[in-house]
Amino acid sequence: MNQGLGIVPIELLGDGDHRPLVEAYNVFRRLALPDSSTAGSAEWLRVAFSIWRQALTASGIGLRLERQALYGLPLPRSDWGGEIRGITMRPWDVELTALEAQLRRIVKWDLVPPEFVEVLQHNAQQRRLRVELVTPQHSLNDATDGRSATVIVAADEDALVEARELERLLLEQVNTPAAAATTSEMGRLLGYPPCCVKRFARITAQNDTTLAWALLPGVPCAPGSPLTQWLQPGLKLLSHFPCDLNCAASIALGQRLLDALEAKERGFAARWRSFAARVQVVDQRGNRLALASDGTLGLGGRVTAADLMAFGGPDPDATSRVQSLVGREVSPDSGGLVIASCGWYAPYVADHRGDL
Ligand SMILES: [Zn+2]
Repeated sequence: MNQGLGIVPIELLGDGDHRPLVEAYNVFRRLALPDSSTAGSAEWLRVAFSIWRQALTASGIGLRLERQALYGLPLPRSDWGGEIRGITMRPWDVELTALEAQLRRIVKWDLVPPEFVEVLQHNAQQRRLRVELVTPQHSLNDATDGRSATVIVAADEDALVEARELERLLLEQVNTPAAAATTSEMGRLLGYPPCCVKRFARITAQNDTTLAWALLPGVPCAPGSPLTQWLQPGLKLLSHFPCDLNCAASIALGQRLLDALEAKERGFAARWRSFAARVQVVDQRGNRLALASDGTLGLGGRVTAADLMAFGGPDPDATSRVQSLVGREVSPDSGGLVIASCGWYAPYVADHRGDL
């Protein structure tokens, strides 16, 4: 921290020469920044950034502002809008479908409320899947009501035995170096691509804000596949966070899952695609929108459709506010999207208009 301004680590680095980063950090700590109370937060950031950049030129280190999230009020820090209302197309049992289609060997749900445990057990039994409660109903987690459970569903006994053992090891190995190997073993059982498990483990905090900063490229960028969509919980097919919007292993998995869902319910893929193959954004109010536009994002364009997928907070006018974006010109700015004519902006953007 320096004058109320801080550096937030997003992702752990691998091997390599990180001396320039260490130097940038040390220079930031020593910066003589003016009193921050004289400017608004966005202006203050710009001023501080340029002082920092100036100070680094002496060390021959360049600094570039790649993305800027703060045009106005900062977004809530962690999970945007914990309560997901809006449009949901993700089948509640998509993970059990993946299990039946042999795309994964287990499904693991944490913090399952007691009343849902029975529903799960009943549903899994009907599909001839095995269910196990790993933690007792009176779990150790005081953050919830203290009675939620971890449930593992598996297609066969071997997977269940293996998952039980890994879960036990994970609880034992919290914050030890051995945990990494156990996590990757668990990822394999869950059917998550190793590249994605590895990247996820490197990200310093597993909340929405940090994940978005680490995993979403700033605008403009080439569109990714709709199958790697994760910004909209209501459209998400995969259970993991893809390491990249173009991660080949995630796209292949998503395609097989979409085929399995389509086989269960004809017409699902087309309906899902009509929302998923869009520009997905989180706006300054924390609302999550699916946008369609008539241009490429790099050059801007006109909004042709805007649907509110999940509310960022209790705002009775949210739906009409979102509808009013249709027809307006949207343009890229500082890694996000801006509609200047109505003061709207979206710091977090994932363009999923690419090929399936
Ligand atoms: Zn990956």
